[in-house]
Amino acid sequence: AMQSDDPTIAELLSAVPARPRLLVVDDQPINIQVMHQIFGSHCQVFMATSGQQALNFCLSTPPDIVLLDVVMPGMDGFEVCKALKSHPETSDIPVIFVTAHTDAHQETRGLELGAVDFISKPVNPAVVRARVKTQLTLKSQSDLMRRLVFLDGLTGVFNRRYLDQQLPIEVARTVRNQTPLALIMLDVDFFKRFNDCYGHQCGDDCLRTVATSVRESLRRPADLVARYGGEEFVCLLPDTPFDSAMAIAATLERNVRSKHVAHVDSDFQIVTVSLGVTATCGESALSVTELLERADQQLYQAKNTGRGRVCGAVLKGQVA
Ligand code: GH3
Ligand code: MG
Ligand code: MG
Repeated sequence: AMQSDDPTIAELLSAVPARPRLLVVDDQPINIQVMHQIFGSHCQVFMATSGQQALNFCLSTPPDIVLLDVVMPGMDGFEVCKALKSHPETSDIPVIFVTAHTDAHQETRGLELGAVDFISKPVNPAVVRARVKTQLTLKSQSDLMRRLVFLDGLTGVFNRRYLDQQLPIEVARTVRNQTPLALIMLDVDFFKRFNDCYGHQCGDDCLRTVATSVRESLRRPADLVARYGGEEFVCLLPDTPFDSAMAIAATLERNVRSKHVAHVDSDFQIVTVSLGVTATCGESALSVTELLERADQQLYQAKNTGRGRVCGAVLKGQVA
């Protein structure tokens, strides 16, 4: 097992779900019932009786694993698997086919479509349990690996690479669901002077304090904090309208101030941050670049009007 004093790694390890979410997709309710009996005590079992229902479920609340029937009216299992694997938001969810008609050709097709395993019906409870357990372990390991690759080594928040990956996903979601998406850009004030005055080591400590303050101030699980550059951070807030984002930014500003990190060379005598806020509301034509640029403009507005403050503007795209 991995051992570390790094709190973020400890948090990540403990985040492995105790009761994994299992989605059973089958047009016959009796088959779902069988799986429920096998997994009910160890997993949260969800059900879908059609391919479309399964896709909707996976997009809105991704499960840890999908047990997928092949033969279903309408969209069959192969089509469902193909759709799941082609969506960036669902492509990492392991899919196991469960089917009555196993032949080499079908099995090959399923595996080529990205399924991790193929199980024949009627299922043997011990076999299906063991195979699902193997896939869940692999999934939580690769999730952990992915998260470690995407963490900033200095501050423990997400890194730029992760933000760059998530931004298009969140923008696509906001357009699809017609929900608002807010972005806050935050920059430490007079940070060059801070380094000059206290040294680079204290500068690093200061960045950790700011990152921790921001992370602790955001409460929703979907909220994302990333280190965007040297002393600049981005918060991406799904499903958050402009007014709420402005209030959150004001809280972030206050909370960093309340850390009372001394900065004698700052106009404020303590470490402060400036913030630029923007939000959209389900516009159809919306680019990641526009979102970042607008937040950046607002950040510069905050810098130019005195620092230690929040400026914001709604981003108006083309309404769907
Ligand atoms: P402003 O109030 O306008 O934001 O001024 P500023 O001095 O904060 O901004 P500027 O961009 O001029 O300087 C940023 C400084 O941040 C310069 C750089 O040395 C420092 N910096 C960037 N990354 C790190 C880091 O990882 N650790 C430390 N200690 N300092 C860093
Ligand atoms: Mg700065
Ligand atoms: Mg900067």
